[in-house]
Amino acid sequence: MAAQIISGKLLAAEVKKRVAGEVEQLKAQGINPCLAVMLVGSDPASQVYVRGKQNDCAECGIESRLVRLDENATQAEVLEQLGRLAADESVHGVLVQLPLPAQIDEQAVIAAIPPEKDVDGFTPVNVGRMTIGQQCFLPCTPAGCIEMLKYAGVAIEGKRAVVVGRSNIVGKPAALLLLRENATVTVCHSRTRDLAHICAEADILVAAIGKAKFITGDMIKPGAAVIDVGINRSEDGKLCGDVDFAAASEKAAFITPVPGGVGLMTRAMLLCNTVQAARMAAGR
Ligand code: NDP
Repeated sequence: MAAQIISGKLLAAEVKKRVAGEVEQLKAQGINPCLAVMLVGSDPASQVYVRGKQNDCAECGIESRLVRLDENATQAEVLEQLGRLAADESVHGVLVQLPLPAQIDEQAVIAAIPPEKDVDGFTPVNVGRMTIGQQCFLPCTPAGCIEMLKYAGVAIEGKRAVVVGRSNIVGKPAALLLLRENATVTVCHSRTRDLAHICAEADILVAAIGKAKFITGDMIKPGAAVIDVGINRSEDGKLCGDVDFAAASEKAAFITPVPGGVGLMTRAMLLCNTVQAARMAAGR
């Protein structure tokens, strides 16, 4: 039986509607939620992502500001701009579009974002808070994955969850959030032995590898929920995930599509975090 598709499109639309309502309420109280995005250089993919974020904000009534810096910008220039955004009380969320040019120390820049404006949830303070279960901004992609599981009615507690990928922005936080939901979590990476066998034991499989159709049908446990984070181009030039969707849908009970899956929820969660930042700044 074919898997049920967890639509990022439908869920993101619901989330955006809710966010728009919250923005309206905040505006009625004189609070104007505002997200500042810093873009350094002119990486084409980054420009597309930034434009998407600006459009999402506009759709929900959130003000967005773009701070653009030249490809050759220095670390000091980036930090100076960040300092301005940090001090600007009319800016509630600050996001630095990654990747940054090679001359910039990415970790130092992330650490310079004030935790209370860190709507990407990437600063060491927010990562630490998430790890020990304190109130914080959750990183958008992993938070979106959890929302998708809940939306589909997939129980997480007590389940065997396997996350393939251990990056700081997806794999590691996804594992932590699944743990927080009381799953039993295994994290796999490029040095993992017998990956196929481990994946095939997963009730919940999160693929965040960055390799087109890497997870094949035989790596899926019958009845599993499969969350495909990957965004890749297949040989025919089409967008595809890290999971072989056609083969996996034959075995899984639930699966997220690419495109139309986790990517849209990532964007929606950023809007949620921005509204949360505005509310917190106003002491609400
Ligand atoms: P990274 O390249 O930072 O991490 C990839 C991870 O996959 C690493 O931990 C790596 O292991 C692991 N890996 C690589 N090869 C193998 C292998 N053969 N077997 C097992 N594990 C392997 O990528 P990201 O986490 O940033 O992104 C992952 C994917 O998700 C990409 O396609 C990216 O485009 C997409 N993405 C999608 C988002 C969305 O909104 N949908 C948001 C962010 C990313 P090791 O650590 O050992 O090197």
